[in-house]
Amino acid sequence: MTKRDYYEILGVPRNATKEEIKRAYRRLALKYHPDKNPGKDAEEKFKEISEAYAVLYDDEKRAMYDRYGHAGIDQRYSYEDIFRGTDFSDIFRDLGFDFDFGFTFDDIFERFFGHRTGFERRTTVRRRGADLRYDIEISLEDAYRGIETEIHVPRTEICSLCHGSGAKPGTPIKTCPQCNGTGQIKKTQRTAFGILTQITTCPRCHGEGTIIEQHCPRCHGRGVVQKTRRIELKIPKGVEDGSQLRLPGEGEAGIHGGENGDLYVVVHIKKHPIYTRRGADLYLVKEITFPEAALGTKVDIETPDGGVEKLRIPAGTQNGDTFKINNRGMPRLHGRGHGNLYVEIHIKTPEKLSRKARKLLEELLHEIDKKTQQ
Ligand SMILES: [Zn+2]
Ligand SMILES: [Zn+2]
Repeated sequence: MTKRDYYEILGVPRNATKEEIKRAYRRLALKYHPDKNPGKDAEEKFKEISEAYAVLYDDEKRAMYDRYGHAGIDQRYSYEDIFRGTDFSDIFRDLGFDFDFGFTFDDIFERFFGHRTGFERRTTVRRRGADLRYDIEISLEDAYRGIETEIHVPRTEICSLCHGSGAKPGTPIKTCPQCNGTGQIKKTQRTAFGILTQITTCPRCHGEGTIIEQHCPRCHGRGVVQKTRRIELKIPKGVEDGSQLRLPGEGEAGIHGGENGDLYVVVHIKKHPIYTRRGADLYLVKEITFPEAALGTKVDIETPDGGVEKLRIPAGTQNGDTFKINNRGMPRLHGRGHGNLYVEIHIKTPEKLSRKARKLLEELLHEIDKKTQQ
């Protein structure tokens, strides 16, 4: 079908002003309102005048049309794009339609004819895939160094046989006749309070907007299949317990061209036999004997990088005294350097004594008593 000239459709001269174009459209929109014009071609007429108006009322589209004709418009804009950006609201408000702010041509069309135009269909059923969560447990040493590992994540992927359509290759996919491809059923009722609109998911196509005659044998019509995917995962050094790493697009597959969801990896750090962590700082408990505490000593402290640090314990150290080893804690996740390593001293009291040890302790006790009595 060849398209008629837009100026001719609206019945305006080629040099018509925007006001004249608007007035002509308003007059024709009233004329093709289904209440006044119940013929079957009212829909087509209404689409035709609305398209002519959308192009001629827009300066850029009108200039394209004036220079290149229909080809200039059709090559540059999809049918949907022709209407996008055109404000129909003031015209239809003048005609007594109380639309909310921000409605599209499709909304107007629906109010007139009881169903949508259909050309917005593809955007309504495109769905983003679901986000996924994967929990991983690592050691404190792994968190200290940062690791690269591989995880195996079960998720849905687009079916390679039907490319996501859900239909057996070579069989047709039809627009759902019940909802006209929108996936929704709108019931409009006139009540004493005005027009009541109820929206429900189409029961025939379950909101897909399309009907498949024969399901794809691989995915059984779902368009997606369950697969386990190997993903290289890089866990940064200094990662904290409960941190989430987001991997964009690694979640469930999108439906009908929708975006994939994201994968969130939640990192759990195993309880460590000697270290307790608070932020970037590490804490450990070191046992020494009473004579070591009294006389002073040097002890070996294991550091989280696998090394050993010599720590000097001064004479007269009390139970519970804590010493700090600078920069031997965890790396800071978002910053430079490391936290500190804190060593808390526990003094071990001997439980079994040799005869000699008992004698020495008794002498010590006597010595201390004498000193405190002076
Ligand atoms: Zn399939
Ligand atoms: Zn349907």
